[in-house]
Amino acid sequence: MARKRRDEEESLPEIPPRPVTLAGFAGHARQVALLGRALSRSVLNPSLLFSGPPSVGKAALAWRLAAALQCVAPAPWACGACPSCRKAVRGSHPDIRTVTLETNADTGKLRKEILVDQVRERVVAPLALPPYEGRRLVFLVEPAEALRTEAQNALLKSLEEPPAYGQFILLTSNPAGLLPTVRSRCQHVTFGPVPPGEMRRAAEAAGLRGEEAESALACAAGAPGLLFSGAWREALSRRETLAALLEHGLAASRYADLAPRVEALAQEPPAAVLAESLRVVAEAQRFLAGGAAAEPLARAARARGQEGLRRVADRLSEAPAHLVRNVNPRLLFERAFLVP
Ligand SMILES: [Zn+2]
Repeated sequence: MARKRRDEEESLPEIPPRPVTLAGFAGHARQVALLGRALSRSVLNPSLLFSGPPSVGKAALAWRLAAALQCVAPAPWACGACPSCRKAVRGSHPDIRTVTLETNADTGKLRKEILVDQVRERVVAPLALPPYEGRRLVFLVEPAEALRTEAQNALLKSLEEPPAYGQFILLTSNPAGLLPTVRSRCQHVTFGPVPPGEMRRAAEAAGLRGEEAESALACAAGAPGLLFSGAWREALSRRETLAALLEHGLAASRYADLAPRVEALAQEPPAAVLAESLRVVAEAQRFLAGGAAAEPLARAARARGQEGLRRVADRLSEAPAHLVRNVNPRLLFERAFLVP
């Protein structure tokens, strides 16, 4: 068994190292202190729910917590140097398990939901046996709101009565997408955006300088994960799209050009696009009230006017309630940006 595991490890593709110590972790001092105290006293709640905006550091801290629970010499967080920590850094610790969206073998596309079979195979069955080598068997479930109802119900039993070695960390940017029964079984730890000073240090640590750092910081909006992954560049192109939708969205002559851009937005995680859209509209509103804005957004703000921006903001704010009822995101974005 041990032999087989080594062979499997060698055949894994190169994955970026996953930090396990607190060095360089941006923000969330209150959450770090809270969890650190629970670690020191060995009173960590076995079912944790981390919620907050995408890429603010929930998964990064969950991974550090998982590593601390396995570390040979925790103080109380992971040392980063012991054999357990080295495995966690490589993402190959056998007792830290991730349950996430998987690729559909038939279509080759990433599924949008976590299925009940995944929960049975990857959580319920392994939980019946003690950890291979660590102190705990840690399950990271992300994005938890993607768990189908049956999957949440299957998970519920494990959350209610986990064995002493079981530890769950559910991660979500939309806690309302979880069943009340699941939410009530977990200790809720909420995360907000990382403040500007710490974001600036994170940008430096990510190797961003000068104008590039300024663009990145504006796009990342308190989410250091976007700086380190480079995904702020996608956010930048999304902001350009949103500015174009605000500027030209009501011109019938531009519909053929803008409809595909709305379609592209609708393919992205709706919660992230909605949050970004509301930020962009709020910036445009501040610009009209005398604030500063980059040129594309300033043009967009002037084109829509205060009344038009308010209408867009209202419709965006109503969108989450429609998404819960499975309304197509494309229709919601069209209604927000392309309808007077
Ligand atoms: Zn260690």
